[in-house]
Amino acid sequence: MTRKLVVIGNGMAGMRTVEELIRAAPERYDITVFGAEPHGNYNRIMLTPVLFGAKSIADIMIHDFDWYKQHQITLHCGPDKAVVDVDRVQRCVIAEDGTVAYYDKLLIATGSLPLMLDIPGREVEGVLGFRDIADVETMIAKAASKRHAVILGGGLLGLEAANGLLQRGMHVSVINRAGHLLNRQLDRKAAGFLERELAAKGIQFQLGTTIVRVNSEDQHISSVELSNGTVLAADLLIMSTGIKPNISLAERIGLACQHGIEVDECMRTSDPAIFSVGECVQHRGELFGLVAPVYEQAKVCAQQLSGQADSQFKTLSSATMLKVTGIDLFSVGDFEGNADSQVLQLIDHQMGIYKKIVIRGDCVVGVILYGDTSDNAWYLNLVKNKTSIGSIRDRLMFGPTALAHAA
Ligand SMILES: Cc1cc2nc3c(=O)[nH]c(=O)nc-3n(C[C@H](O)[C@H](O)[C@H](O)COP(=O)(O)OP(=O)(O)OC[C@H]3O[C@@H](n4cnc5c(N)ncnc54)[C@H](O)[C@@H]3O)c2cc1C
Repeated sequence: MTRKLVVIGNGMAGMRTVEELIRAAPERYDITVFGAEPHGNYNRIMLTPVLFGAKSIADIMIHDFDWYKQHQITLHCGPDKAVVDVDRVQRCVIAEDGTVAYYDKLLIATGSLPLMLDIPGREVEGVLGFRDIADVETMIAKAASKRHAVILGGGLLGLEAANGLLQRGMHVSVINRAGHLLNRQLDRKAAGFLERELAAKGIQFQLGTTIVRVNSEDQHISSVELSNGTVLAADLLIMSTGIKPNISLAERIGLACQHGIEVDECMRTSDPAIFSVGECVQHRGELFGLVAPVYEQAKVCAQQLSGQADSQFKTLSSATMLKVTGIDLFSVGDFEGNADSQVLQLIDHQMGIYKKIVIRGDCVVGVILYGDTSDNAWYLNLVKNKTSIGSIRDRLMFGPTALAHAA
């Protein structure tokens, strides 16, 4: 008998799981998907090029509405189809508009939400996060008629938003509480290279400070006040200070949650009929904000649901890149090091190149590449595979090409 699978969340993790599942076991489930956004499943990562004008919304669709039809998947999508309750005894989910769907297995893939800091005055028009198509459409519309954008947060998303709005003709300022940009991905030296390059493009920076008040006129943001006393004109404020797992539904229905929905190695929650994947989960205390581990979770979950394999999820090092045209940057692992580490560095100010390799014992544990990231995959593998580097250490800094020449 065909079982029923219901998926809450029509995003990258949930739909990657469904895609893998129908490949492995096409006949096993009747699948129903609920999504709170009025779209098919799209590549959220590509919202950045949509913002700066290199791609359209149609370009970034992974699964359009026809795909669901072709695979006999029932899709309920739009704000009124957001799931508001799950009856774990009757095994059914209930959407905002009253739509009900019964399940044998339930997959929760509700992603995360932008962290909106509780700054006085922020509940006005023009203050938003950078998470979905609606946010990008609002930013593009504002950029067409307004002048001043302020980004709170100098992390990856904040800088991508800053660059996108700059490309759209806005005057952009980035405010970052930490003293240097991308402080979770870069050390001070690499961040200095990045700041100079972005400043040369026209982005202004206020580092080591934060926004203490949002001022408005007619319920629309007009300026922001910083803790260092500066006041900046603002028609748009993008809050990009982090994300938080979207677990309100899971908490309400009594699943074990801490910061995220707790899952085991099989992506199973505290209810054996309910699985969870994506940025909403917490696995062995760890939360997720990049697509590589989320897709790995999807693979494991699909195998579990298909009943064909017994694979388990393990967290591996994920690398980060910045999607700003003309800026090549790569970072993975423990790039700061500690008392037990040794650090190899190469700096070329003229060429704008910085390389840092952190070694502990006989392995590379962290890497930063700035200006030339052509060998990033090789370094990533060294870190991921904990490769012994004893025999190649003298050429490590120069990458795989140098090794091939020496061989
Ligand atoms: C602008 C941007 C750029 C990014 N760039 C990168 C990058 O370069 N590299 C990288 O690795 N990662 C990047 N990411 C992160 C990446 O997009 C996420 O890791 C990935 O989307 C997580 O997938 P998810 O399915 O967990 O969440 P999402 O893709 O957010 O999907 C969750 C979905 O669930 C829906 N939902 C929530 N609650 C309900 C409910 N109650 N009922 C129904 N539906 C619900 C949401 O509306 C959403 O559509 C970026 C993210 C953004 C926003």
